Amino acid sequence: MMKTELSVEFFPPQTPEGVEKLRLVRKQLTTLNSDFYSITFGAGGTTRDRTFAIAKEIRDEGIPVAPHLSCVGSNRQKIREILQDYRSAGIRHIVALRGDLPSGMAEAGEFRHASELIEFIREECGDHFHIKVAAYPEWHPQARHPRDDLAGFVKKVKAGADSAITQYFYNADAYFRFVDDVRASGLDIPVIPGVMPINSFSKLARFSDNCGAEIPRWMRRKFEELSDDASAIRELGLDIVTDLCGRLLAGGAPGLHFFSMNQSPLILEICSRLKISG
Ligand SMILES: Cc1cc2nc3c(=O)[nH]c(=O)nc-3n(C[C@H](O)[C@H](O)[C@H](O)COP(=O)(O)OP(=O)(O)OC[C@H]3O[C@@H](n4cnc5c(N)ncnc54)[C@H](O)[C@@H]3O)c2cc1C
Repeated sequence: MMKTELSVEFFPPQTPEGVEKLRLVRKQLTTLNSDFYSITFGAGGTTRDRTFAIAKEIRDEGIPVAPHLSCVGSNRQKIREILQDYRSAGIRHIVALRGDLPSGMAEAGEFRHASELIEFIREECGDHFHIKVAAYPEWHPQARHPRDDLAGFVKKVKAGADSAITQYFYNADAYFRFVDDVRASGLDIPVIPGVMPINSFSKLARFSDNCGAEIPRWMRRKFEELSDDASAIRELGLDIVTDLCGRLLAGGAPGLHFFSMNQSPLILEICSRLKISG
């Protein structure tokens, strides 16, 4: 087994059954020996309590946990309270994000960009938190030019971010070029690739259009050819994502961050094929 930095992202379930299922998923993932788990945060604070409850449960199990925190639609007082909750639960890692305004919510709130949230966390909590931020190797969909997005990323690091996790992508070169651009900007923080295992291709294609992640044409065509043959789709997805992860690690990526969708089998299979653990 080769050791590498591994982390897994979960979303906070909405039901007690979902919470129970997530416990089982975490148990199944134990063999990976992940360095940390992260828990998403619904923009506008919609999952505030559930994100905290799952993060606290994982923290109490002795596993490092990084709850996400998004600032859009929020204000200083609310963020201050969340930071206090996280601190009093012994949490030392945060994924700091702007987030997207949920439909129907008109007020952008007191923070415009993730960099302002990071400045605020540093003002309020000093060095208590290791702050991770989002990065976009294929560029954030709202960025007018790649250089603007890179400038926004540099701002987040200068405001105090310690490491970055990328949006998922299926083109390894986009990641390597992004890291080159980050290094050329004089920054040396780790940029961990975010990896999305492929379960349902149709869902992935829809989701990717919204978040600006490109599905290469050759990949799209290969999946389309399989129509709704679930096991062939799973196999092709495993081949593609395992190959991508192998290339990223061989090219110097400092670890892998898996978007789990609260499921373990594909992540376990990819890591087993790569012979890696945390
Ligand atoms: C690893 C990962 C985890 C995520 N987890 C969550 C989650 O838990 N909850 C959730 O709601 N969303 C999550 N997201 C999605 C994220 O919230 C959205 O992509 C959101 O649109 C941008 O958030 P950000 O923190 O990257 O924003 P920012 O870094 O603020 O960037 C947003 C846009 O503003 C631009 N920008 C940045 N700074 C400036 C500036 N100073 N001036 C002008 N323009 C600027 C950027 O180029 C970009 O186009 C996640 C994304 C990733 C990659």
